Amino acid sequence: MIEINDLNKSYSIGKNSLHVLKGINLQIQEGELVAIMGSSGSGKSTLLNIIGMLDNYDSGSYQLDSVPIKDLDETKAAKYRNKFLGFVFQSFNLINYKTAIENIALPLYYQGIASKERQKIAMDYLDKVGLKDWASHLPSELSGGQKQRIAIARALASKPKVLLADEPTGALDSKTSDEVMELIIQINQEGKTILVVTHEQEVANMCNRIITLKDGVIMTDIKTK
Ligand code: ADP
Ligand code: MG
Repeated sequence: MIEINDLNKSYSIGKNSLHVLKGINLQIQEGELVAIMGSSGSGKSTLLNIIGMLDNYDSGSYQLDSVPIKDLDETKAAKYRNKFLGFVFQSFNLINYKTAIENIALPLYYQGIASKERQKIAMDYLDKVGLKDWASHLPSELSGGQKQRIAIARALASKPKVLLADEPTGALDSKTSDEVMELIIQINQEGKTILVVTHEQEVANMCNRIITLKDGVIMTDIKTK
């Protein structure tokens, strides 16, 4: 599903260059649940953003579902992103003035899906994340865990091949964090390929494979289940 070879990425800051990813090699098969661990600044988000086509890389190669991903123009990148990828972020990124169901339905609108069908799909995914009764509530009326469930439902509603989550439990207490991870595990058991960036060992332990990054290098890559 994901094949990365000798991938390098630097950021230039003024005259200086910061080498953030240093020769990453990584293969992820369909159906895996992978944690990307590492301390702050180790390059986790940079790697996830490259996998998510939100950022480019300098050298090496990256293939997603056998499609080479390199220097795509924004139209093509957007097309592949919509087709292949779902995103979940630490800060939920819900639209505050839209209800739970509207938040889930919005990306479907941009995909040209008709209103009735959007409502139906959004309600199905609300149900899937256990929040059917919260359809008409605003994000401000939901707990952190509920907000993240809505964000997960929104990501899934477009039927991505891969779900990318950057610190999905970073803003949650440990009990809520476990609940969100249980949902992620359930979605993975239904066949979805999922990458979870985290700096929490407990969260990583709930995944089936743990990749540890340090200063832009993969230090360990361990199958735990
Ligand atoms: P992590 O997610 O593991 O905390 P990041 O991938 O966000 O790490 O960042 C890795 C390094 O790259 C850090 O030193 C960070 O400051 C730097 N960095 C990240 N994004 C940018 C950017 N857009 N411009 C310059 N430096 C960046
Ligand atoms: Mg990060």
